[in-house]
Amino acid sequence: RGTDAEPQIPFAQPGSLTKVIAVASGKGGVGKSSVTANLAVAMAADGLRVGVVDADIYGFSIPRMLGVDRPPTKVDDMLLPPEAHGVKVVSIGMFVPVGQPVVWRGPMLHRALQQFLADVFWGDLDVLLLDLPPGTGDIAISVAQLLPGSEIVVVTTPQVAAAEVAERAGSVAVQTRQRVVGVVENMAWLEQPDGSRLELFGAGGGERVAANLTRLIGSDVPVLGQVPIDVRLREAGDGGTPVVLTAPDSPGAVALREVARGL
Ligand code: ADP
Repeated sequence: RGTDAEPQIPFAQPGSLTKVIAVASGKGGVGKSSVTANLAVAMAADGLRVGVVDADIYGFSIPRMLGVDRPPTKVDDMLLPPEAHGVKVVSIGMFVPVGQPVVWRGPMLHRALQQFLADVFWGDLDVLLLDLPPGTGDIAISVAQLLPGSEIVVVTTPQVAAAEVAERAGSVAVQTRQRVVGVVENMAWLEQPDGSRLELFGAGGGERVAANLTRLIGSDVPVLGQVPIDVRLREAGDGGTPVVLTAPDSPGAVALREVARGL
């Protein structure tokens, strides 16, 4: 720490004005990356300077969702991050040959994350979002170590099984002393043509995670929002332009924009 060998991470310096938010989930497929991508783009559309680090080493999907395939460009010793929809993006996916699995161990992951934070020229950012891998693994601990001031947003679905593991992911914050900003319940319901709500994955997961984390951490962890199942959200993600831009009035986009404004 503080030696010449330790790369300097601007967001970890005292007095850094960048809000750092790590987006976590208990398991894959709950929409963590979709939430991250949409929050980033919504914030940028609101005039904030936003960066995204895709730290979901094993399931990186941020490049596709934001429509970036170029790796950062090298200028002297720095990497210039590509930009998409007003957001600066770096992903492990940009450094791995297409179609190859990532088989890195903990120390390598830590080093990669450190490089993303220290060697990339981010400029002045208002917000840096990190898309964490699902679960409570090495990367979550690395983020807490490298960015002690970072906060956590937990994404879950309404389903009990998802909520249980999401709680575990959020409870890492007790050890790392990170603040848990709140819980986003994704895939909360599917609106029917008659306006009624089909609760495809049940109900209550978000509330449950929020209540249990509040108890565990001892400070208020609110539900930041409920995002319904929205076909346009999925299509937009597949197409590389998040739904908050392609269909801002769709139910998913409305919910995600509200979450972004509350952060
Ligand atoms: P995770 O990052 O948790 O693995 P993703 O964000 O990759 O999850 O989402 C998994 C899949 O579900 C993606 O195909 C995504 O487009 C889709 N998806 C996520 N949230 C929603 C939603 N609210 N409505 C419809 N599809 C969604």
